[in-house]
Amino acid sequence: MDDCIFCKIINKEIPTEYILDRDNFIVIKDIVPKAPIHYLFIPKKHIKSMLHLDMDDSKLLSDMMLGTKEIANNLGLNEKGYKLVVNTGKDCGQEVMHLHIHFLADL
Ligand code: 5GP
Ligand code: ZN
Repeated sequence: MDDCIFCKIINKEIPTEYILDRDNFIVIKDIVPKAPIHYLFIPKKHIKSMLHLDMDDSKLLSDMMLGTKEIANNLGLNEKGYKLVVNTGKDCGQEVMHLHIHFLADL
């Protein structure tokens, strides 16, 4: 998608440090963090939102969900835990129309 900021990050048109780079998704730091740790899990495939997923995306979703556990392990969050947020639709706070999971935590 030409005008999608996350596609530009995935296509390396906008240089961004990757926390994780997998076959089907990346993890980056949110540019305006709302918590001490605020990462975004972003599929490499342009999917507008949760409402635009189909059955073929089930592996992608489980890979991203298991990826959150891996990041939590790496950050030593097994005791404290973490929060996941997926804003879906403009009226519910989705500003970037490329599916992403917010990963929020205190250290
Ligand atoms: P939404 O409101 O769509 O759920 O969340 C979009 C998030 O993307 C926001 O928290 C915003 O700070 C973040 N964001 C928007 N543009 C960029 C960018 O160019 N780079 C990074 N790393 N994050 C961005
Ligand atoms: Zn996109």
